[in-house]
Amino acid sequence: MATRRRVIAALGLGLAAPGAVLGQAARAAGAPGGMAQAQAALPHRVVLPGVGTDGPRPAVRLSFRTPFQGGAIYLEVDHAVMAAARAFGRVSPLSPGPRGVEGFVGFGVADPPGPAVLEVTATDAVGGTFRFSEPITVRATQWTWDDIWLPPPDPNAPPPEGPPLEPEQPRLDALYATVTPRQWQLPFIIPIELGGEVWVSGYFGEQRSFNGGPRTGHHGGTDIAAPAGTPVRSTNHGTVVLSELTLVRGNLVVVDHGGGVLSCYGHLSQRSVEVGQAVRRGDVVGRVGSTGLSSGPHLHWELAVAGVLVDGLRWLDGTQGF
Ligand SMILES: [Zn+2]
Repeated sequence: MATRRRVIAALGLGLAAPGAVLGQAARAAGAPGGMAQAQAALPHRVVLPGVGTDGPRPAVRLSFRTPFQGGAIYLEVDHAVMAAARAFGRVSPLSPGPRGVEGFVGFGVADPPGPAVLEVTATDAVGGTFRFSEPITVRATQWTWDDIWLPPPDPNAPPPEGPPLEPEQPRLDALYATVTPRQWQLPFIIPIELGGEVWVSGYFGEQRSFNGGPRTGHHGGTDIAAPAGTPVRSTNHGTVVLSELTLVRGNLVVVDHGGGVLSCYGHLSQRSVEVGQAVRRGDVVGRVGSTGLSSGPHLHWELAVAGVLVDGLRWLDGTQGF
């Protein structure tokens, strides 16, 4: 406490020297090696509010400020060692990057269009806490829709083989909420190159009507129609966290890219990876098929950010500023 009193006294007299840093003094008091070692390891900065600063303060940079519903913002907080962003009551974790911390903030299909605030809390190297309120505007997405006609169940159909499968959604939701150390690196890639026999057959967020009923729900991923057997590639680096036959999405692979970003690849005819396996961006995780609830060969590709499903196609064309 002697050190703390001396610093405050010096500041009161307008005599603060560059090395007189309250945050460092407080840390040094309990640190082995004492004041000299702490000062050598930490940048100089006065952390008394309103007194001044001689070190870099955390600064927030957003890739853009007008995300669509189902879109995402790339957020960087320079000179921060730790930070979190909050919008619509959800916390988006951020991970260490070259200039501070960085990550994505996802916006769901149900987030209301209009002005909103992205709250960012950041901690710098000497323990100072900073809060930012960044204005953003969520833009309404015009959802596509599809009328689907399903034939009545065939009473003479043979019973399904093997034990019944549990719906996979609860397990997917739990996986999408996990945050592991960041592995992703920009850019993200499309799992199958479009063109020729490969096209987008169902957009993210699409609403569907079954047998003339009301249009409901939102498609949680992007459908890419492709010939059966076409290789499906991981959109980024990561670790396989699920690879199995599921009820709805059929043969399914989920890759955790770290930092709260996960991708999933469904209806595969063949899975090429196992749980725990590391994959690089572009590695083949499986092949296109029509397993699960599917009416023809296609890939169902989902992308999730901190538990929020977002439109993967928007991550590929630069329109979100990354
Ligand atoms: Zn789909």
